[in-house]
Amino acid sequence: MSKQNRYDKYKKIICEIGKRMYQNGFISSTDGNISIRVDKNLFLCTPSNVSKGDLTPKQIILTNNQCEVLEGKGSVSSEFYTHLSAYDERKDISAVVHAHPTYSIVLSLVDISMCTPILPELIMTLGEVPTTEYATPGSKEGAEIIKPWIRNHNALILKSHGVLTVGKDLSQAYSYLERVEHSAKILFLAHLIHKPDILSEEQYLKLIPKLHSPNS
Ligand code: 13P
Ligand code: ZN
Repeated sequence: MSKQNRYDKYKKIICEIGKRMYQNGFISSTDGNISIRVDKNLFLCTPSNVSKGDLTPKQIILTNNQCEVLEGKGSVSSEFYTHLSAYDERKDISAVVHAHPTYSIVLSLVDISMCTPILPELIMTLGEVPTTEYATPGSKEGAEIIKPWIRNHNALILKSHGVLTVGKDLSQAYSYLERVEHSAKILFLAHLIHKPDILSEEQYLKLIPKLHSPNS
């Protein structure tokens, strides 16, 4: 199979995931971005400032670690430097997803942490989901801020802004995004009614062997 055909398949997958993100309400308007590492310094990335809910493969940009547009239309996502930070820190990942899901953002606005051991399924799949310090969206500062966090976590809450997830492939990175937002919704609703129960140390420790290391 030629390289061109191989990229076409990935471009189609990016469009499908963009659609799912939009249909699930994880993004609105021109929010969010998606990238895949297709070679050492070669990436496919969504274009900036367009809806990611109805992308076509022709719009997907082939770029390098200098953000040059090698194929596709428009400019590379304003968050691509943040994606590059994740790829630099994590040689084991091939995909990065960023979205603005409602409940995850709301929890970060009111300083409710997603690291407290409350939901077993979240602990078993992602462990802690830390909230990073605030940074201007699309800034170099934002790209720097995620570095120490993404080394040891597959999902981050970007304070007051959104969620960033990484995976060995796009389907895994997207599934982590879904998991984070679903968990955030449960935590939000629980906090509305009452302070949620925290797992005991014994309950928590039983979950740890089931957690996959972020780098495995
Ligand atoms: P882009 O359209 O430039 O990818 O930006 C969307 C976004 O979510 C910014 O944080
Ligand atoms: Zn954003």
